[in-house]
Amino acid sequence: MKLIGKFTFDSAHHIEDTKHLLTKKCAEPHGHTYHLTVKFELAMLKEFYSRDFVDFQLIKDTMEVIIFKYDHRDVSKHWSLHTAEQIAQDIKNGLMARYKCNPNDITIELFETDKWGIEC
Ligand SMILES: [Zn+2]
Repeated sequence: MKLIGKFTFDSAHHIEDTKHLLTKKCAEPHGHTYHLTVKFELAMLKEFYSRDFVDFQLIKDTMEVIIFKYDHRDVSKHWSLHTAEQIAQDIKNGLMARYKCNPNDITIELFETDKWGIEC
């Protein structure tokens, strides 16, 4: 069983202009509203918090801290995160460090646009 939360944040980024970058407009700094879905293994959360049930407020508080790193920031400039893939993995790494859990306990979906996203 999984606990699922949805969050949004706004960040700027750019992608290095190489021959592999087909959409050259991504080479200029620009912003997105990222839509983030996080799926937690409920058993892992219950064990971490030593509780029979997990109050959503606990997750809201954690996600506020995690998202603070990215929200209204140029993530390319501050964190050298350029792609949705890198941002999603960084979020997942932050959550795994927070909960001292393994990769199977947390799944991240990060959508950069309405149609395109990353799952890790
Ligand atoms: Zn972009």
